[in-house]
Amino acid sequence: MRSILFLLGLCALASAKYKRYDGYKLVEIIPSDVRALHTLGAWNGETSLDFWEEPSSVGEPVHLFLSPESLEAVGSVFDYKVLSETIQQEIDEEQARLKSRVPTPYFEYDDFNDYETIMAEVYDLADRCPAGFTCATYAIGQSVEGEDLIVMHISKDGESRDAVWIDSTIHAREWLATATMMKILQNLIDNYGTDSSATDAMDKYDFYILPIVNPDGYKFTHSNERMWRKNRSVNPGSTCLGTDLNRNFDFEHGTSGTSTLPCSDTFHGAGPASEPEVKAQQDEMHRIMNSGQNIFAGISMHTYGRYWLMNYGHALSGTCVVSPDHDVQFELCTKMAQATMATHNTNWAYGPMCTTLYAASGNTIDYMYGDVGILYTYLPELRGSSFVVDPNQIQPSFEEIWAGLHELFTHE
Ligand SMILES: [Zn+2]
Repeated sequence: MRSILFLLGLCALASAKYKRYDGYKLVEIIPSDVRALHTLGAWNGETSLDFWEEPSSVGEPVHLFLSPESLEAVGSVFDYKVLSETIQQEIDEEQARLKSRVPTPYFEYDDFNDYETIMAEVYDLADRCPAGFTCATYAIGQSVEGEDLIVMHISKDGESRDAVWIDSTIHAREWLATATMMKILQNLIDNYGTDSSATDAMDKYDFYILPIVNPDGYKFTHSNERMWRKNRSVNPGSTCLGTDLNRNFDFEHGTSGTSTLPCSDTFHGAGPASEPEVKAQQDEMHRIMNSGQNIFAGISMHTYGRYWLMNYGHALSGTCVVSPDHDVQFELCTKMAQATMATHNTNWAYGPMCTTLYAASGNTIDYMYGDVGILYTYLPELRGSSFVVDPNQIQPSFEEIWAGLHELFTHE
């Protein structure tokens, strides 16, 4: 009896550690003029308010996830519409479902998985590498907390070819991006020889897959805070942890849509590529290119909002910078977005990040194109209306993103 009570006590302790969002609401605000837009933009950069859809332009919805106290303060300035009051309930259901899965660890492609289970599956996939290919896993560096940053390189024996780079989970809470990424990797490896689209892709390109850019953050969303976004680096002089890795790349760092304040979710870090997760990715992409292998395309996966975004994301002096290769990049972006939309009859926006969504400097795809010289770089913001997603969305998400990628793989 005593041991049962002890165990119950431990369980209570463990679950108490996981942050609760009781009473929180996901709300939508439509900035009606430039002044309102600037106010929201200032809050995004200067406060720890949790923006799920960041301010972009007048008339475009902004989503905020707010505690009762924050909602009272925000509601005194803006009219808002409540989109959801059930996020905590959905997290409870998600946790109950994940904890009830047996045996553990056990990778489930149609549900979400913790970090260790995902990495075990990545190594299992490497072991299932099709005959005639090599699936090499290797660390490109370590995270702030010392986790290896694992890339899988898929190559065809005896052939030197252009490569496609795909990464996901730079933002910790975007679990659907991770799950969609794993289905893409599985399709390439397990369906080679049976699925014609996967077979053609594998026969044409090398792949470099980095499923989890931000392991510390992803682990933290499972252990402590479901809504954590950044990495877990300590910021000297601040009690707030973490840098937004997708604002930390060393290309036009800090010019637009980023924050200098560590408590902001868009904090761009102490300096360009100050974060080891970013430095490792930059160095690896350069290493590949310097070895003589051309990276044909780079994809960086996010949720949510249904966008296919391309470079550039940054603005200079408040003006979006236009890519010198805009026309060819946009042509392929259009094909990818249309293929995605046709898959499940959904509506997606597409085009340069800065003009289509918002300005954000130091992001992955700007660096890939602007610094590494990868011509085709895209950032899908996947389906959904929250970071907590029903697992039945994973398969359609994979199908529509794969349809877009198929256009990329077959592009001449
Ligand atoms: Zn993201």
